[in-house]
Formats: sequence, structure tokens, C-alpha cells
Amino acid sequence: MRKISASYIFTGKGKLLKNGILVIDDDGTVIDLIDTKGKLTEISSLEHYNGIICPGFINAHCHLELSYMRGMLDKTKNIVGFVEQMLIKRGGYEGDIFEKIAKADKEMQLNGIVACGDICNTEDSFLIKSKSKITYYNFIEVLGLKENQVSNKIEKAKQIANEAINSNSGIVSITPHASYSVSIPLYDEIKQIAEDNKSIISFHNQESKEEDELFVGEQNELYKFLENFGLNKHTFPITNKSSFESIAQYLPKNNNILLIHNVFTNSNDIKSANKLFPNHYWVFCPKSNLYISNTLPNIELFKNENDKICIGTDSMATNNSLSVINELKVLQNNFKNLSIEQLLQWATLNGAKALQMDNKIGSFEKGKKPGINLIYDINLQELILTEKTKAKRIL
Ligand SMILES: [Zn+2]
Repeated sequence: MRKISASYIFTGKGKLLKNGILVIDDDGTVIDLIDTKGKLTEISSLEHYNGIICPGFINAHCHLELSYMRGMLDKTKNIVGFVEQMLIKRGGYEGDIFEKIAKADKEMQLNGIVACGDICNTEDSFLIKSKSKITYYNFIEVLGLKENQVSNKIEKAKQIANEAINSNSGIVSITPHASYSVSIPLYDEIKQIAEDNKSIISFHNQESKEEDELFVGEQNELYKFLENFGLNKHTFPITNKSSFESIAQYLPKNNNILLIHNVFTNSNDIKSANKLFPNHYWVFCPKSNLYISNTLPNIELFKNENDKICIGTDSMATNNSLSVINELKVLQNNFKNLSIEQLLQWATLNGAKALQMDNKIGSFEKGKKPGINLIYDINLQELILTEKTKAKRIL
């Protein structure tokens, strides 16, 4: 048994306990969490840390298989330039992809990440995941605009999903890529599979303004680019609504739905999400957004969604680290009203709920085994993260 105390313990559920004491079993299972009301008295064999102790982080959005692309993509003016580069550079790499994946997995562990929602287009990451300490939820991503490709795309996704299951790489579901990259018959198939399996959907949502423009009939740069892949005037109906509202009907209603990025999401979209999807989650990947579009989601619009917000790193293609604490720093620096309690809840319990892992991880509650992180070099007077702040796993 270990008794761990720190300047503050974050419970996972929005509360900081000053000088709290966490009591855990030898295997890390939570036995008790004691609120000392700030008054720590002498207790035998108590470990004490300077900083904030919090449950292990959940990285709700990553593409581990793209770890070899670190630093390979140049900044461009919009998402089209980014996707074009992806297509050219993704296939041309001659180094050891698996070594890069293993290194990225290790980096996440060192940064205190205990679970990860990871997008997969290939089987490349499965061997490393099967040996990792991180629990992975594998989202096998499907995209395709040509209607005659639907059965091939689904078959291929099922093959990859089976490979993930057979290799013990974690939980698996099949998911659509984004509003603009999936034909309606393909959406229908994915929706059926998700409903049958009660699986989680992870969906790139409103990452660029060009996505929204497609649904009001603009033949913008994204439209012209997608024409090469089968997009035509009949692929999507012109709804004069946002991309999210336009495709919402093709997503399963009652499943957990992780909406990734949400850079151009407005208050109407938030209202619609609440009306249509009781189990929706907003996943913010701020460092990636700055990289791709030099824009951040308007977090202030989401002020009533505190229990619905999660944090993702996105991939090494658009980030220089896989660190949840680095993402929180960007949010804190850009949105001064966010409290440390909010940010840490987004990084822990909310992500665990989104990935349906909150019975085991995400908070310090009796019987859970959430992992224990120490956040150090933090401004403890004002409770803000500084440039120097880091997080590491202590159990
Ligand atoms: Zn992504």
C-alpha cells in the first residue's frame, strides 16, 4: 500500500484537494482519497510531491501510424495543401515506420497518457499496441466518395479491424473520416455497423472552413481537389447548413460520438449536437489546429459543455509532441478564463467517458486503476501551467 500526497490532488471530477492524500494498493488500485482540508498532519510512510497529482491522461485523438511523418509536412495556407502533402509524402517514406511508432507510444507513456483513441488506416500500429502499457481504442477509418467502392471499403475496414482484434491491440470500431470524404451509401453502411455493435464513432469535424462551404454549394479549392476522388454535384445535397448539421442524419444517434477538432463549429452546431446526439464529445487538438490553419476553436462557445470536452494530440504529422499537458498549455494561454480544474477534467475523466473506459480510469475513485501523474514546475500560487510545466507518470 502507498500513501501519496501533493500540493494538490486533482480528483478527476473537477475538484482539487489541497494536501489531499491518495491511498493505493501495490498494483495501483485506488483504496481511498482523503480530503485533509489542506491540513496535512504527520502520517507514517507518506510520499509527498510538489505539484499536482492527477489521474493518467487520456489522449482522445491520435494517428499513431503517422508517427514517422514528424516534421515532414510544410505549413500550408489551408487543409487542401495539407492533404495534398499527406498523399504525396505518406507513401514515400523509406525509414523504419515501426521504430517511429514504438518511439511515439513510449513518448505518450512518459508524458502520462494511459489511454488513447487512435485512428487507423492500416495495420502498422497493431504489433506495438499489443505490447504497450497504453490502452488503445482503435478507430478503423473509412473514406471514399465513389458509390461503387462501398463494399470494397467496408471489406477492407473489416479486415483491418479483425487484424486489430486478433493481435490484441485494444478495442476496435469502424468510423467515417469526415463530412466531405464519405459518400452517403458508405455512411449508411458505417452507421449500420456502429448501431449493431454499439461502437464509438470518431469523426473529423469542421477542421476547416472549406468543409462548411461545400454544403452551401461553393466549388472551392477543397471541392476541386475532391473531384479527383469522385466528388460531383450529386455526392452531397446542398443543405445551406453547416457540414456538421448536413451529415448529422448519417451518424448513429445513441452511440458515443467523438467530434474531432471543431475549429469552425458555431453555437448552432453545439445546439444541434445536444439535440441529436446525447453521447457526443468535443475533442480539441489545439496544437494541430495551429499547425494546419493557424486557428483555434472558439472554446468560449463551449462553456456549457464542460463534461463533454476532451483533449487529443492528433498525429506527429501536425504536432511536434504527443503530450496532453502541452495541448492544455495552448488552451490556457489562449483562453484565460479556463481553470486548471476544467482543463484537467477534460484531459482525464471526460476522455475516459468518451472512450467508455471510465469504469477503470479517468478519476481517483475506489476500485479504479487510473495511473498517477505528477504535474510539476507549475505556478502553484495562481494554479496555472507555465512554459516549464511538465507531466510524468509516477505509477
Ligand atoms: Zn485526425
